[in-house]
Amino acid sequence: MNATNALRTVDMIRRATASVSGHRAAWRELHEAHAAQTLLSYDAGEACEAAQRSTFRSERRLQLAASKLHPWRPLLNRYPTEHHRRNATRNLLEHLADDDVALIKAADIVVIQTSAGKDSVVALHRVVAAARKAGCMHKLRVMHCDLGQAEWPGVRQLARRQAERYGIPFILVQSEGGFLGMVEDRGLWPDSARRLCTAYLKRDPTGPVITKLVEGLGLDRQAVVLNVMGVRGAESRSRARKSRLTLDDRTTSSNRLVLTWNIIHELSESQVWREIADHVLEYHPIYDTGLQRLSCVYCVLAGPDWLVLATRICFALGLPHPDLYTALERQINHSFKQNLTLGGVVAAARMIDALDGPRTWSRGDALRRHLGPSTADAYLAKLAV
Ligand code: SF4
Repeated sequence: MNATNALRTVDMIRRATASVSGHRAAWRELHEAHAAQTLLSYDAGEACEAAQRSTFRSERRLQLAASKLHPWRPLLNRYPTEHHRRNATRNLLEHLADDDVALIKAADIVVIQTSAGKDSVVALHRVVAAARKAGCMHKLRVMHCDLGQAEWPGVRQLARRQAERYGIPFILVQSEGGFLGMVEDRGLWPDSARRLCTAYLKRDPTGPVITKLVEGLGLDRQAVVLNVMGVRGAESRSRARKSRLTLDDRTTSSNRLVLTWNIIHELSESQVWREIADHVLEYHPIYDTGLQRLSCVYCVLAGPDWLVLATRICFALGLPHPDLYTALERQINHSFKQNLTLGGVVAAARMIDALDGPRTWSRGDALRRHLGPSTADAYLAKLAV
């Protein structure tokens, strides 16, 4: 099956499943309306008439749902249960994920979400390599969600440079107030159970951007959108459970089929650094300090050691984040993490600095740690050129 037909089948299965759910919901509604009508059948008054009208409306809705379901009967005979349909979709998408070039050819637009971090830049490089083979560079867009003052300096500029290296249009999304504005408004820090920061600052802005891009295509058929993420399975157990290519049900609609493409899902951390070195991809200097992720300066998911190290780096760089965050923590009277205040983190960082001296690092240290000094030196020499 070619990629376009596979994608059409994925969408047909999605629509058939939606019709089944709509039909089921209409049945339930009619059943409830019948029950209400039976209950009120001895009542000659307005309540009984209202119940009859409600039953009539539910019957009409059920008819409509049945007519929407009808065209999907042959497909539903083939994939009778939700389990069958989910498996069929997963198999088709796994098969598609094996062929980057065909996938990009079948897409109308490819949005590469970047945090400017090491995984994002490798994902970007891989998409570009496949798009060049497919002759589809014009389909690519790079999108960066700016979290405002919460990020390490230079992140936004680096994300733009990474896109410019390949001549790809860059889309910058900024939410009003950024991360700190969101915390101030809510009077609470997000946590791992309620990662509102990811939803509010990164996920929610994606939908409107995709809507605009699809409108700009002016197609008279459903557009196929690939939404590329630099997610790796090795990062966490929940990420390991993700697939390389999945249907984004939330963003997909009749005019766009949106697929999330975790193009570097199988890569290990050292493979990521190897690709950075081999292709001389520019990475953020924060990795040289010993931090392993380019996240917010203070990430709500980080452990105490990470937060203390981040604070020491802020001291070394003269950044205002420790003061800003501790002031906000006092203002909203909510500790940054359960059983851990940033006030305590900052005090611990001061103590370590007093004992060991300020944190120091050199450009290329991340590569030295992962791939050795000669690779780091060769990378820096090429980067300078
Ligand atoms: S880096 Fe951490 S704190 Fe920042 S948005 Fe992501 S999850 Fe939230």
